[in-house]
Amino acid sequence: MGTGVESRKFEAEVQQLLDLMIHSLYSHREIFLRELISNASDALDRLRHEALTRPELQAAGDPFILLEVDPGLRVLRVVDDGIGMTREELVENLGTIARSGTKQFARALREQAAAAEGGDGGPGPVTIGQFGVGFYSSFMVADQITVETRRAGSEVGCAWRSEGAAEYTLEDFPDADPGTCVSLHLREEADGESFDEFLQPMRLVELVKKYSDFVEYPVVMDRRHFEGHDELETMTIEGDREVVVLNSRRPIWARPKADVTEEEYARFYQHLAHDWNAPLETIHFRAEGVTEYAALLYLPGQRPFDLFDADRERSHVSLYVRRVFVMANCEELMPPWLRFVRGVVDARDLPLNVSREILQQNRALHQIRDRLVKKVLDALARMLADDRERYAKFWTAFGAVLKEGLVVDAERRDALADLLLCATTAGDEPTTLAEYVERMPEGQEAVYCLRGTDRATAASSPHLEALRARGHEVLLFLDPVDEWVLQQLSTYRELPLRVVNEGTLELGSEASQSEREDREREFRPLLEALEARLGDHVESVRFGGRLAESPAVLVAPEGTPGPAMRRMMRETRGADVPEPRQILELNPDHALVARLRALAEEDPAHPRLQDLADLLLGQALLAEGAPLPDPARFARLVTALMVSADAGPSADADSPGAAGDGDASAEA
Ligand code: ADP
Ligand code: MG
Repeated sequence: MGTGVESRKFEAEVQQLLDLMIHSLYSHREIFLRELISNASDALDRLRHEALTRPELQAAGDPFILLEVDPGLRVLRVVDDGIGMTREELVENLGTIARSGTKQFARALREQAAAAEGGDGGPGPVTIGQFGVGFYSSFMVADQITVETRRAGSEVGCAWRSEGAAEYTLEDFPDADPGTCVSLHLREEADGESFDEFLQPMRLVELVKKYSDFVEYPVVMDRRHFEGHDELETMTIEGDREVVVLNSRRPIWARPKADVTEEEYARFYQHLAHDWNAPLETIHFRAEGVTEYAALLYLPGQRPFDLFDADRERSHVSLYVRRVFVMANCEELMPPWLRFVRGVVDARDLPLNVSREILQQNRALHQIRDRLVKKVLDALARMLADDRERYAKFWTAFGAVLKEGLVVDAERRDALADLLLCATTAGDEPTTLAEYVERMPEGQEAVYCLRGTDRATAASSPHLEALRARGHEVLLFLDPVDEWVLQQLSTYRELPLRVVNEGTLELGSEASQSEREDREREFRPLLEALEARLGDHVESVRFGGRLAESPAVLVAPEGTPGPAMRRMMRETRGADVPEPRQILELNPDHALVARLRALAEEDPAHPRLQDLADLLLGQALLAEGAPLPDPARFARLVTALMVSADAGPSADADSPGAAGDGDASAEA
């Protein structure tokens, strides 16, 4: 084909994304420029990196990112002299969707479009910024895009061209300068929407200042657009071309705190996090002494969509050395349980081409990390003390991640325990452990905790009955990670944390305990009959002190792995982890238990006893929100019970002694 044109199809998902870009309306389409400038800046970073080991790649002149407009042709160009792309890289980078962020964005857009068609207005415009959607966002403003590029060190260039349809073309481009030129042919005015603003130099200046001011490389435009503006900084590129520099390039973290406005902090955060919102908290400090560095960290206000994706970055802090970007997602600077923190650390005394291996052993870096973690935890403690509402917002978004720290970081366990917010039986608002302890009545000697999966089920769990009757508040632990938290956090300020759905729970006096044990002996035939009937489903049947109203409840033997832990064991070992068998704990004071005893003594194999045993287990499972072993049979038994029951006053239905006369003598 020689230099002939080769056509290729976009990957199906790119195609969908482009359709949506072209046909939908966006709240912030101007961000395409930010995306192109950031790509150019990445390309310059990468060239500088490769040139560390291959100096011959270094471009002749100073690095730059050039914006050019040609209003006559309706063309806007973003040019850089960075790393460039080979033909293969063009296909790989601009023909497929490699990144999950872009995929998620496509899905959000589709959902928005579907909702809008459904006529309910939809969930509001998707904020593109959150997704870091990158290069393809240019199709919001352009109906044709050309990328002319030459990879550093390569002799031939290549041109990529697309109109956003199913195909794009590639052709050899012998005259390409090293680097990349992205040309956008801006869409014509349509539906009252004009795209001309992106051809106006002053508007571009505004956008560069807004989104890309701190980009390290000069973003420049030709001098002729700025006649009469002699105050502007100028430079020369490509030997003799005089251009004006639009961005200040002063990294925000290198400036004194007092000089940076909240607005500027927010913009930088938005650039880092691809989040349209302002950060919830900004932490900016400079450390002097043996290890000198500046750190600028942000806590986001909302949870990103991929916080729990296993394949996402475990750190969102970038490392710079003397203002030069070295590494994104530096795990040596921030532990995974603070992966929601966004930010930058700029260290003075590290080598630029530092490798991961060196970083892992670098003591200075460990110190920096400890200090950063402490700063973040201090900021959270302050927020909790001073602004509960804001802290609650933080907690909703990231509490479950912070809890991972409680599990893995023994040294910070106490500090993290103080930051916990827990749902509680004492009200709708979550509480801290300290507040719980403050409220504890005289004589209470443990912090009571219930492990559950959702608030509604947990709050009405039979496990709480006796505790509630005694006026004890119970904390509800509802996140999957809480299983590990409760395992590691055995005490708080010397008080034991007691998981009430596990093991034995003794609230009464020793006398009442021994009384129950006597009764257990007395009721032995019943307990044995129930164990015989339910032995496939429960470990044992016994009496316990947890219940006040319900006849029975399921209790996990102490130390049993909960559902989240079992899921993890299944995933990591690939093995089948059997559901652990629970203990069926009966309320010895419940009238139903007395009735069952009578049946058991009459005949341990009494059919009615068998049915009632199944019902008892079924309702104990239901109260936990757990599935029934045989739902159809359970339904038949309940129906039979309803048919045969005297229509007694329903108010009695959940008080002790309400076993009534209902016979569950269904034939199953
Ligand atoms: P991201 O920048 O997040 O990777 P983009 O959609 O913005 O995603 O870009 C996709 C890829 O295309 C980049 O990762 C990069 O490899 C390549 N690319 C885009 N613009 C340039 C450029 N100006 N120079 C070199 N490579 C580029
Ligand atoms: Mg990009």
